[in-house]
Amino acid sequence: MGLRPAVRLCHLYPREMNIYADRGNIAVLHRRLAWRGFDLRVSESPPGERIRTGETDLFYLGGGQDRDQLGVAVDLQGHKAASVRSAAADGVAGLFVCGGYQLAGHEYRTVDGQAIGGIGALDVTTEADATRLVGNVEIESRLDTGRMRIFGYENHAGRSRLGPGSSPLGRVISGHGNNGEDRTEGALSGRFAGTYLHGPLLPKNPQLADWVLRLALEHRYGGKYELEPLDDHFEEAARRTAAALTARRRLAPRFRVRTR
Ligand code: GLN
Repeated sequence: MGLRPAVRLCHLYPREMNIYADRGNIAVLHRRLAWRGFDLRVSESPPGERIRTGETDLFYLGGGQDRDQLGVAVDLQGHKAASVRSAAADGVAGLFVCGGYQLAGHEYRTVDGQAIGGIGALDVTTEADATRLVGNVEIESRLDTGRMRIFGYENHAGRSRLGPGSSPLGRVISGHGNNGEDRTEGALSGRFAGTYLHGPLLPKNPQLADWVLRLALEHRYGGKYELEPLDDHFEEAARRTAAALTARRRLAPRFRVRTR
C-alpha cells in the first residue's frame, strides 16, 4: 500500500448529497484505477471541515434535494467555496452531479425563491420551476478525447443557464438537459464538469470515467496521460439498454411532473 500511483479524491458532503446512488460513481473510479494498477484515495469533506487543496486531484459532489442543498449552503460559503475555486484555478479536476452541479455554479434559486450561493467554479446559474424535468437522457459530447454518447437519468426542478465562461458538456439527443429549451446539457470549465445525469452516471459511461481520471492523473503527475483500454463489455451491454430506452423516449411525448 502507498507505493502504487494514486489519485486523491475529495468527496464533498458524502452523506448530505447522495441521491440516486451517486456514490456509485466513486466505486467506478476506484475500480477503473485499480484494474490499471493505481489507487484511489478518498477523503471525505463533511460540513465543518476545511479542504486540503494541496492534497486533492479531483473533487466529487453528488446530487441532493433542495433541502439537502440548503443544509450545506452555509458551510459551503463559509468553509469550502473559495478553496474549491482556487483549486480549480490550479488545475484540480471536478465532477459535479445534479444538485452538486447546481452548487458548482453561481447560484441555485429554489421554487420558494430561496437563493443558495454556489462555488462559482462553473459559469452556470439555476432557477427552479414548478415542473420537474424527469427521465432517461442521451447526450453527445465532444471532449478533447473525441466524441462520445453519454447516457443517464435526470430528475430536477432547476433550469440551468450557461454563461460565456462554461461550455455545455453535451448536446441533448434525448431528454431535457439543462433547461428543456436550449438542448444543452451540463457544463465544462477547465477541468471541472457538471451534469444533471444520475444513474449513477459513470457505470454506463466508462469513457467519461476515464476522461475524468485522466484529468485527475494529469493534475497529480503532470504531462499527458493515456489510460490503457479495459474490457468494457458489461458496460457496453448497459449502454445498449440505455440507448434502447432513450430511443423509445425520443418517440414519446416529453414528461414533465408538476410539483405544486
Ligand atoms: N434539488 C435539485 C432540483 O430539483 C437537484 C435534484 C437532484 O440532485 N436530483 O433541481
